[in-house]
Amino acid sequence: MVQLDSDLTARLSSLSRQGLLRELRRVDSPQSVQIRIAGTTLLNFSSNDYLGLANHPRLKSAAVEAIEKYGAGGGASRLICGSLKPHHELEESLASFKGTAAALSFSSGYAAAIGMICALMRKEDVIILDQLIHASIIDAARLCGAKLEIFPHNDLNHLKELLQISKQARGKVAKPHRRSPASPLNSSVGSSRTLIITESIFSMDGDRAPLREIVGLKEKYGAWLMLDEAHATGLYGPRHRGIADELGVSDQIEIQMGTLGKALGAAGGYICGSRPLIDYLINRARPFIFSTAPVPAAVAAAKAAIGVAQSAEGDSRRKALWARVSQLVKGTDIKISPGKSPIIPFIIGNEVEAIRVAAGLRDCGIFVPAIRYPTVARNKARLRLTLSAAHTSSDVRKLSAALAKMNHNTLPLAGH
Ligand code: PMP
Repeated sequence: MVQLDSDLTARLSSLSRQGLLRELRRVDSPQSVQIRIAGTTLLNFSSNDYLGLANHPRLKSAAVEAIEKYGAGGGASRLICGSLKPHHELEESLASFKGTAAALSFSSGYAAAIGMICALMRKEDVIILDQLIHASIIDAARLCGAKLEIFPHNDLNHLKELLQISKQARGKVAKPHRRSPASPLNSSVGSSRTLIITESIFSMDGDRAPLREIVGLKEKYGAWLMLDEAHATGLYGPRHRGIADELGVSDQIEIQMGTLGKALGAAGGYICGSRPLIDYLINRARPFIFSTAPVPAAVAAAKAAIGVAQSAEGDSRRKALWARVSQLVKGTDIKISPGKSPIIPFIIGNEVEAIRVAAGLRDCGIFVPAIRYPTVARNKARLRLTLSAAHTSSDVRKLSAALAKMNHNTLPLAGH
């Protein structure tokens, strides 16, 4: 006991010296654009609740109703006796929202990534990842034992080279795979496969993947594509499904992943795709099989959120969100990547300096924690500013004024 604690204390001190120590901050209020921390109400520019749904009356009443009807707990895993009506209703809603044949929900997006990738990929397969892909996918890719290749962020030439090499290694010309009744998964039995994984809107930079080009490459080289739309679902495209919807390429993506805990304001993760894909996951995705079913309240709230996101109210919330984004961009020196995004990185670099700037903003009544290694690379520390439909223009004016007051020398650049 003593040995463990002294070892850990030394490690924590080392993290602290590097400006990398993390601590929990207790929030004594609901999720909202105003949060109460240590007795002070702060304007919150750090949440992923992009549409302001986390504390929405429709989500809350759906959760309460689900508790009344189905109880507080999941009882058992989905495959034992925990597959309740709200889970099935959520999955039907998800499939119809995303326009796929089927969907499967998980307790989190992290669990969805681990479940999906470890179920599908074997050690003779190749996984090709964007350098800035989310930790859940890196962890899953390492865990599954497949050969891992990384391409520099959004670098299509490098991706193409990796695809050429993996195709040569497969030793034969693979046929392009489309989501179709002849399941790509069934045809994989026995031969090595290549899976590209990228995000549509990158979580810490707010920029987007060149999705149309990636789809073209994966078709050309006979690879599969898994797209994480965690930060895009509910926000983009004519049906608000995400960037794949905006670009009209959804039908060419084998595996669509996302979370229910960001624009959809609830909690949980999902995989959407073909019926064989989902049936296979039910049989092979370990975080799905060996974990208690998500609680009815969360599942029902997520389903209600899909309804709000698709409604006229969803349209006006998106309009408000994008208005706040352009207001912030106009009101500061922040340069952003092309294409609108609710995530605006204020790059600082040095970790200790990022903590200092975050503390300065807190003194101005603004809450934006410093994002540091290992969430981003060393010396790429930043304030990750996120906007919500629930922010008012006066909130954004206060943020712009506080940023100006910090008068930081580094010109922040999004996407770097
Ligand atoms: N993918 C991305 C891109 C994310 O940003 C996150 C959450 N930070 C996840 C997956 C994991 O989702 P969840 O929070 O539901 O576990």
